[in-house]
Amino acid sequence: MEKAGVLYEGKAKKIFETSEPGYLWVEFKDDTTAFDGLKKELLDDKGALNNQISSIFLELLAANGIATHYERLLDDKNMLVKRLHIIPVEVIVRNIVAGSMSKRLGVPEGTRLKQPVIEYCLKSDELHDPMINLHHIYALELASEEEMKSIQEQTYLINDVLVPYLEGRGIALVDFKLEFGRHSQEGVILGDEITPDSCRFWDISSGEKMDKDRFRRDLGGVTEAYREILKRLKEGES
Ligand code: 5GP
Repeated sequence: MEKAGVLYEGKAKKIFETSEPGYLWVEFKDDTTAFDGLKKELLDDKGALNNQISSIFLELLAANGIATHYERLLDDKNMLVKRLHIIPVEVIVRNIVAGSMSKRLGVPEGTRLKQPVIEYCLKSDELHDPMINLHHIYALELASEEEMKSIQEQTYLINDVLVPYLEGRGIALVDFKLEFGRHSQEGVILGDEITPDSCRFWDISSGEKMDKDRFRRDLGGVTEAYREILKRLKEGES
C-alpha cells in the first residue's frame, strides 16, 4: 500500500489517495481547533489517540453489522478507509443536553432526554455548519428520501451500540456527530471518525468531561482525557 497525493486536508485529518483504487489513507493530525479554527493548538499524541479510538469504535460497529468505511489501521496515526462520496450533512445525535442545544433551547446542560434527538447540519465551514431539516436536504438535493431513511436507521443503531458499550466503561455518551457517504457498491455507509473530537463523553461517576470540550472551554488535560478514553476502551476489550 503506497500513499499518493493529498486529496484533502481538513482541520484534524489529512486524506491521501493510495496505490489501491477505492481506498484512501487517513492521517490523524495533532492539530486541535475549535470555533471554526479560531482557537488552534498542537497537542502531542492527539492524532495517534484519535486514530486508535476511532478504529476501535468503527470495528465495534462492524462487529454489530453496521457497515463503515474503515478497512484497517496502517500505523499509530494512519488508517486505511474505503473511498466514499461524503454527503454534506452532519448528523448529530443527542442523549443528554449539552453545547449548542442547551444554548439554543435554554435547557440546562446535563438534562437527560426522554429519547435521542437527531439534528442535521449543513457541512460548511464558511457558514459555520448551520442547522437544516429534512425539507432542506430534499429541496437542495443533498440526499434522497431513501438515503436519509437509511441514515436515520443506521444512526439509531449506532447509538444503540455505543451507549451501552460506553456505559460499561463508565462513560456517558452525551452527544456525537456522524458523517455518511455513498460507496460504489455498498450504498450509504458511515464515514469520517468517532473520537473525543466528534463526541461528548462524560465520566459517569464524576461527571468530568473527557472530550474536546476540555480544549474548547480551557479546562486543561485534553490529551490526558483522550488517553483515558483509549485506556478504558482497551481494558474492556480483554
Ligand atoms: P454542538 O452542536 O453542541 O456544538 O455539538 C454536538 C456534538 O456534535 C458534539 O459532540 C460535537 O463534538 C459534535 N460536533 C458538532 N459539529 C461538529 C464538527 O463540525 N466537527 C466535529 N468533529 N464534531 C462536531
